[in-house]
Amino acid sequence: MFRTSKAQQGKMRVVVVGAGIAGISSALALADDDSVDEVILIEARKHIGGRVSSVTDPHSGLELDNCQHACFRVYERFLQLIARAEAKKSIKLQGRTVLTFTDPYSGKSSALKDGRLAPPNHMLGSMLKFPFLSLRDKTRMRRVVSAFAKMSEQQRLELDDEPFIDWLRRHRQTEPAINRFWRFFVLAALNMSLEEASTAVCVLLFKRGLFGDPHAFDVGAFQDHLSGALDAPFRAALDSAGVDLRCSTQVSRLLWENGKCRGVVVGDATIKADSVVLATPHHIVTRMLRGEGASDSAIAVAARTSALGYTALIGLHALYDSIKSGEDTTFTALVDEPIIQMIFNRNAELSEANQPPDGLQWLSTPISFADPYLEMSDGELQTEFERVADSMWPDSKARLQRFFVVRTKRATCAFPIGSHKLRPAAGDAGQGIALAGDYTDQGWPSTMEGAARSGLVAAAHVLGRSWNPDSPWPDWPKPPRRDTEGWTAWDCE
Ligand SMILES: Cc1cc2nc3c(=O)[nH]c(=O)nc-3n(C[C@H](O)[C@H](O)[C@H](O)COP(=O)(O)OP(=O)(O)OC[C@H]3O[C@@H](n4cnc5c(N)ncnc54)[C@H](O)[C@@H]3O)c2cc1C
Repeated sequence: MFRTSKAQQGKMRVVVVGAGIAGISSALALADDDSVDEVILIEARKHIGGRVSSVTDPHSGLELDNCQHACFRVYERFLQLIARAEAKKSIKLQGRTVLTFTDPYSGKSSALKDGRLAPPNHMLGSMLKFPFLSLRDKTRMRRVVSAFAKMSEQQRLELDDEPFIDWLRRHRQTEPAINRFWRFFVLAALNMSLEEASTAVCVLLFKRGLFGDPHAFDVGAFQDHLSGALDAPFRAALDSAGVDLRCSTQVSRLLWENGKCRGVVVGDATIKADSVVLATPHHIVTRMLRGEGASDSAIAVAARTSALGYTALIGLHALYDSIKSGEDTTFTALVDEPIIQMIFNRNAELSEANQPPDGLQWLSTPISFADPYLEMSDGELQTEFERVADSMWPDSKARLQRFFVVRTKRATCAFPIGSHKLRPAAGDAGQGIALAGDYTDQGWPSTMEGAARSGLVAAAHVLGRSWNPDSPWPDWPKPPRRDTEGWTAWDCE
């Protein structure tokens, strides 16, 4: 529990705008605190979960993810949120890190796994057997892994102005290592290209993720389509915490009085509050902070957020009339495939109760850093997908029943070189308002973890408490270790 409390200052009414992961984390953390009397969570859409949501396929009528979403055990605040919402059954987590790579044409396949050595060498055994890189590539990579381990936080942040590709070349990485290893992880985890991504953000990914705690990169998958997995448990948790959730309600502007944010405006009505947590995507934040009467600090933040961009993602969903992939396929990265970068077998991720109907198999591909492919037609994307799937499973008799494409232009916040200074902290927009969202300066990239952290940082700001987002949120269940009870273990060996 937090030791200090703001209760002596009187009880608060807080309005949270936006029920994505950031807004939900914030609303729950605030409602859990004795010093807060009332939390109103306002969401423009019918559904909650924001960008982690499903889309109804008009052809099959099935609810499908907007795009494959993966989490990792290192998503500690996100997993705390899942535990707080009693939604542990919504996710399964690998009991051992297993990351499979396949060459779809030769059929050659190999997995990176954590072994017995201490980090950062826990992947070394499987790395040495990895057939897609030569010994020379791997020897050079070892130097970079050691450089990460020695790098201080200050040194990492100082690399924000250097493209990761330049840093890798400066550290004598070979072209195969760059294209088959470093590029894949930056694309898949950060939704960025090596040419644009900031070295500071990339180093965080490798230092804290792949080469950090040996458990960190255990992959987590949703056991239902995204809204099926999250909407009901989040609503139940918000309801039992006493949060007043108002969906299908759009905040049109913030209410400013004497340079202080005093509430929000919805239609003709004003909702007054002691504090507002603004948890919308950053292009909406820019507009809201420029509203009539906004404080100078808010306008200065808007100038920064207006310079932040987005990166697109495309979700491909292939529904086969029977099992196309091998029964034991879970997911695999594809070597040297720029568009079909990965294939996930959603049947292997979904719980027994949530399997697709009529023996269908649901294969799912997220296309990361998808801006160059947004103009491709559904038919062209389908041709790409079938080319890869047919060469991976040439003997399968399964027929493609439906191919469904979801394009999201504003999928993740882009953090190119030099963007760190553009990311505002929770309290930067002035009095009466806290900022939350994956774009804020909460130490993480634009992910579900970044969003959960940002919501908690904003809650701590409203509560006037000091909290380090690298430590657990004190009032919630601890993040799961491999042996923590109640979580579903996912065997991907
Ligand atoms: C296709 C896709 C794939 C992704 N894959 C992954 C992945 O594999 N792993 C991962 O970690 N992350 C992934 N992400 C990123 C992750 O989903 C986001 O970083 C995270 O969900 C952002 O959460 P948020 O709460 O900051 O914002 P949002 O989810 O955007 O929530 C903001 C909410 O504010 C609401 N809102 C906006 N304006 C108003 C208004 N005026 N009034 C009231 N409400 C308003 C919106 O409707 C929305 O619900 C993916 C994102 C997409 C789109």
